[in-house]
This record gives sequence, structure tokens and C-alpha cells, in this order.
Amino acid sequence: MSKTNKQRQLNKLFTEIVGNDVCTELAEQATQLVPGVGNPDSDIVFIGEAPGKNEDKQGEPFIGAAGKLLNELLESIGLTREEIYITNIVKYRPPNNRDPSTAEKQQFVGYLTRELAIIEPNVIVTLGRHATESFLPDLRISQVHGQQQRNGNSVIMPLYHPAAALYNGGLRQTLFDDFALLQQFI
Ligand code: URA
Repeated sequence: MSKTNKQRQLNKLFTEIVGNDVCTELAEQATQLVPGVGNPDSDIVFIGEAPGKNEDKQGEPFIGAAGKLLNELLESIGLTREEIYITNIVKYRPPNNRDPSTAEKQQFVGYLTRELAIIEPNVIVTLGRHATESFLPDLRISQVHGQQQRNGNSVIMPLYHPAAALYNGGLRQTLFDDFALLQQFI
């Protein structure tokens, strides 16, 4: 599929999420749906948890404090946001940035699977516990971060969430180290 066609399919998918009233409990309290952004033809996709306050306001993933750190991490391995694709499991902001519930995540999983089927990345980077659990339910992020895993035909690279490093300074270096590992096989 051409890049333009991929973007068209993605736009259709996001319109469908809104049209199908997916996860009304979050949708009703959110400003807007926050769709994935970036290069629909990317070989690598980064998946976060759910939009925060800034993302909800501006309609774009990872543009707040965690997003700034993500930009630095990408830069450290020579990647720009324009080259890659970034999305979240849950596409509406949970009130007060609470964790999304299992039921809420469940409602988006089918759409995320379709989003990935359009992009066809070689590597899926899961940022944090929620995204990692969606692909690798039996593994703990603290034990597998930075180690590539297989899930069907996909290579999954579980990493800590950049927001975790904002609260726990010790994780910052771990994230930069794990990004360096990521660079070795992309
Ligand atoms: N945290 C996430 O998981 N996703 C965002 O888009 C922003 C912060």
C-alpha cells in the first residue's frame, strides 16, 4: 500500500472510532480523540498508554513533558518524530490522567491491531506497562525492558514509559541505554 493510501486508511480508522462511539465513558470527558501521528510507512511504531492533558487539548500524542523526553530519546539514536509513527492504546484522555481500565483498553485493542496492520512495522516499541501488557501479558516491564521479544510475526521492544523517568530520575539513564539497544537492531 502506498504511503498516501496508508494515511487515508488510518484517517478512516480514526473517523470510525469516533463514529462508532467507542469508549463513551472516556470520550464524553475528553476534548477530542488523539489519533496516531507520524510516518504511516515507518518500520518502527511507538505505542504509549493514553493522552494526557496537553495531548487532549492539542489532539496529538506525546507533546507534553513525557513527549519532550521522548523527542530527546529519539534524537539520541538519530531519529526524528517525522520519520517514525507514534500512537497510544487508548485514544481519549482518562480523567485526571488516571490509568486506563482493562475494559477501556479492551475497547481500543481491535482498532490498534488494525492501525498496525495498515502500517506494517517491523518493530513495535511499547512504552510502559500498559502498552507492554497489551502485547506481552505475561511479562513484567521491570524484567524485560530493553530486550526484544516476539509476538507472532512482530518484534516487540518493551521500554519504560518516558513519564516514569520524570518521576523516577534513575530510570532516565535506563531509558537512554535501552534506546541505544533499540538502535542496534533497527
Ligand atoms: N503519555 C502517553 O502514554 N501518551 C501520550 O500521548 C502522552 C503521554
